Amino acid sequence: MIIAKNIHKSFGDLEVLKGIDLHVKPQEVVVLVGVSGSGKSTLLRCFNFLEMINHGEIILDGKPVNIKKDNLNKIRAEVGMVFQHFNLFPHKTVLENIIEAPMMVKKKEKGAAIKHAKQLLEKVGLAEKADVYPSKLSGGQKQRVAIARSLAMEPKVMLFDEPTSALDPELVSEVLAVMKQLAQEGMTMVVVTHEMRFAKEVADRIIMLDQGRIIESADPKTFFENPSHDRTRQFIQLVE
Ligand code: ADP
Ligand code: MG
Repeated sequence: MIIAKNIHKSFGDLEVLKGIDLHVKPQEVVVLVGVSGSGKSTLLRCFNFLEMINHGEIILDGKPVNIKKDNLNKIRAEVGMVFQHFNLFPHKTVLENIIEAPMMVKKKEKGAAIKHAKQLLEKVGLAEKADVYPSKLSGGQKQRVAIARSLAMEPKVMLFDEPTSALDPELVSEVLAVMKQLAQEGMTMVVVTHEMRFAKEVADRIIMLDQGRIIESADPKTFFENPSHDRTRQFIQLVE
């Protein structure tokens, strides 16, 4: 679903990604871990073309992305992204937040957009919140709306960048539950998270980024019980 070949990304003199090779298979759930500053967010943003790579290649669903020719809005519609901060439009209701992009970007007809939005709200457990404003929601509810909003574009892949890091601890599990359900339904996902229980339960593969390089890529059991790299072992001790 995503093939990254030798991706390099620099900000000025600072090389943040130093040759990333990664294949994410259809329906695979990849959890991306690493200490702060290791390049996790930058890598996700490259997959979504919020950042442009300096070198290498990204192939999405079999199609090499040529940034000059391809319509970035169309690509971004195929690669959904959920951030730490929810970025809902405060002056729009929950339903209006969800139907905005399908109508504006995909030119979906309003009735169909509303119907789909309601199904998605049902899925994330917020059917009764369609007409309220984001300020009336808890952080966990906002994040679930953000997930529904992303799904409304019918993406082929979902990227999550620390989706629960800004939440009060008691609100984390409701968001992880929605993500787990998505994974079980076969969504292809790349998830940056410090929630190691989620990683153990849901990930097909855990990848450790260290100073802009992938140093470990293993199934959860191997990752936690028999990592190949000292830095991975140190990281596991930090987070567990
Ligand atoms: P992580 O998500 O793993 O914490 P990031 O990808 O956010 O790491 O950042 C990796 C490095 O790139 C950090 O040193 C960060 O300061 C730097 N960086 C990220 N975005 C930018 C930017 N837009 N301009 C300059 N430096 C950046
Ligand atoms: Mg980050």
